[in-house]
Amino acid sequence: MKRMIMMTSMAIAIGCTADLSTEDIKVAPYKDGKECAVSLTFDDSMKEHYTIVAPELEKRGFRGTFWMCGAWMPADPQYDTTHFTWAEAKEMSDKGHEMSNHSWSHPNMTSLSEEELKEQIRKNDEAIIANIGKPSTTFCFPYNAYNETVLAEAMKGRVGARLKEFWLGGQHSPKEYLQKQVEDAMASGSWIAGMTHGINYGYDCYEDPSEFTDFLDYLKSLEDRIWVGTFRDVAAYVAAAKGTTVEVTKTGKVTTVVPSTNLDKTLYETALTLEVNTGEHKIKAEQDGKALEVLYRNDKAFLSFSPFGGAVTIR
Ligand SMILES: [Zn+2]
Repeated sequence: MKRMIMMTSMAIAIGCTADLSTEDIKVAPYKDGKECAVSLTFDDSMKEHYTIVAPELEKRGFRGTFWMCGAWMPADPQYDTTHFTWAEAKEMSDKGHEMSNHSWSHPNMTSLSEEELKEQIRKNDEAIIANIGKPSTTFCFPYNAYNETVLAEAMKGRVGARLKEFWLGGQHSPKEYLQKQVEDAMASGSWIAGMTHGINYGYDCYEDPSEFTDFLDYLKSLEDRIWVGTFRDVAAYVAAAKGTTVEVTKTGKVTTVVPSTNLDKTLYETALTLEVNTGEHKIKAEQDGKALEVLYRNDKAFLSFSPFGGAVTIR
């Protein structure tokens, strides 16, 4: 497998400018032109998410999404050792993990009154802001139960909700099953989200906890092909890639790419990847006066740009 070579555009030899045609340029479906995306998500604010999961993810350079219920966060950690605390949640957030809304107290949301439904979402949103300082912009339904009304309410001000997941843990942990999910995602260019509760305890914990870390190692070994990103980051990227058009024009050796999007910048703030068929050639690119980082892989260049910024020039 070819390794990804990272270089800034400043380091590129200028002697071999690419003669690009407008068809050579498109927005990549996933960050850095990866073939598929995997989000690792963890439900129910379990203590092990803080003590085991987050450190194991960080060791491999991954970040996870943790769906929390405010009502379950221990007021006194001495008497509840099964859930992580708000202070621990803040620490995880500061390390780049996504700490997000799984309702206030984990009811089946399809059986709530309109008032109760709104309260379950609002109360947890407010607790997350108060304790972590960052808004929850994704949602996960308790018991994965939702209907049209619940979904519409939960999606207000959010980039996505977990509606489909593959189970990691319990009887679903064998290597063959987990690797098949990833192989299928690579083959179909899909985004998949894993759902895990406990590692060593809980109703669907791993029979052998090393199956969890082995799976992380497997994902790491495919890092050139798979984007392991938080649910929020992948949801925002996918929406921005769909909601952004690029107009490509060429004058002499300079190709200009003008992005336009109607998406709300505060909610969908993300960098998109432009995929450029360069063949053997190297390119230099800039946007709003700043040189853009360019990655090369398989005769293509991948550069990161803002869909909310000005024209990208490539030479
Ligand atoms: Zn849950």
